[in-house]
Amino acid sequence: AKDLGKDNYVIYSQSIMKCPNKSTFFDKDVRRALTNNEFRVDFQPRIDVKTNKMVSAEALIRWEHPERGLVLPGEFIPFAEESGLIVDIGDWVIRYVCEQIRHWQVQSIPVVPVSINISPKSFLKRNWSIGVMQILQDTGVSPNLLEFEITERIIMQNEKIVYDSIKDFKERGITFSLDDFGTGYASITYLKQFQFEYVKIDRSLIQNIHLDSQDAALTKAIIELAHGLRMKVVAEGIETVEQFQILQSFQCDEVQGYLYSKPLKTEQFESFMSKGIH
Ligand code: C2E
Ligand code: CA
Ligand code: CA
Ligand code: CA
Repeated sequence: AKDLGKDNYVIYSQSIMKCPNKSTFFDKDVRRALTNNEFRVDFQPRIDVKTNKMVSAEALIRWEHPERGLVLPGEFIPFAEESGLIVDIGDWVIRYVCEQIRHWQVQSIPVVPVSINISPKSFLKRNWSIGVMQILQDTGVSPNLLEFEITERIIMQNEKIVYDSIKDFKERGITFSLDDFGTGYASITYLKQFQFEYVKIDRSLIQNIHLDSQDAALTKAIIELAHGLRMKVVAEGIETVEQFQILQSFQCDEVQGYLYSKPLKTEQFESFMSKGIH
C-alpha cells in the first residue's frame, strides 16, 4: 500500500474502483487499524449559551495512519459506510469513549456527557443494542453520560427495528440528537415522531447567519420549532462573536465551534474540563 500516493481520498476511491474484489484493500486497512489502535478520538466542547460553560462534548474519530499520517473522518467514513465496517468502527468508538469516561471518573476528573456519531447501519444490526449495553456494563459508565447523534438518513429508512432500538436506548437513559439538521430533506414530521432531546443545526446554515438574513430567518424558525416540540438546539460550527450574538438573541441553547474550541486531544480536553465546568 506504500506507493499508492499521498491523497487518501484518491487512494481509497481508486483502490475501491480498480480492485476486482471491490473494497478489500480498504477493509484490510481498517481492520488492521482497529486491532493496532491506529484510531483515536478527539473531543470538541459544547457550550451552554446562558452560562458560557461546557456542558458536553462530541467525540470525533481520527486515524493516525502509519503511512499516511493523520486521516480525517471525511476521508474514510464514507467508504466505511459503504463496506459496512462503520459498524465495527462505531463499536470501537463507543468502547473507547466509555473507557475514557471511566478513566476520568477514577481519576476524579470532572466529566461531561459525550456524544457519539452513530451510523444508521449500527441500528440495523441485529442485537446491536445488547452489545452497547454490555460495553456500558463492562466499563461501569452510566447511560446518562452518553448521547447518540444520528442524521435524518436513519429515520427515513423508516424501519421498525430502528425505531424500537432508539426507544429502547432512550428508556435506558441514552440521550439522542438529530445531527446536521438543515442539510437534508427537512423532516419536520420526523422530529415529532422521535422526540430527540437535541437538534443540531448544521454549520452550512450557521456559517452566514450574520451576513444572510434568510439563513438567519431559517435558523430562528428552526429554533422556535424545536422549542415548541420541547427539544433543545445546538448550533454547529460557530466561528465568530457575531454568530454567537445572533444565536443568543434567538434563544439557541448550546453552541459548538472553533470560537470556543477545536476538537481537542484527550490531554488538552482534560484541562479544558477542569477550567470549563467550575
Ligand atoms: P459532524 O458530526 O457534523 O461533526 C462536526 C464537524 O465539524 C467535525 O469535523 C468538526 O471538527 C467540525 N467543526 C466543528 N466546529 C467547527 C468550526 O467552527 N468550523 C469548521 N470549519 N468546522 C468545525 P470532523 O471531525 O472532520 O468530522 C467530520 C464528520 O465525520 C462528522 O461531521 C461526522 O459526520 C463524521 N464523524 C466523525 N467522527 C465520527 C465517528 O466516530 N463515527 C461516525 N459514524 N462518523 C463520524
Ligand atoms: Ca455530529
Ligand atoms: Ca453535525
Ligand atoms: Ca455537519
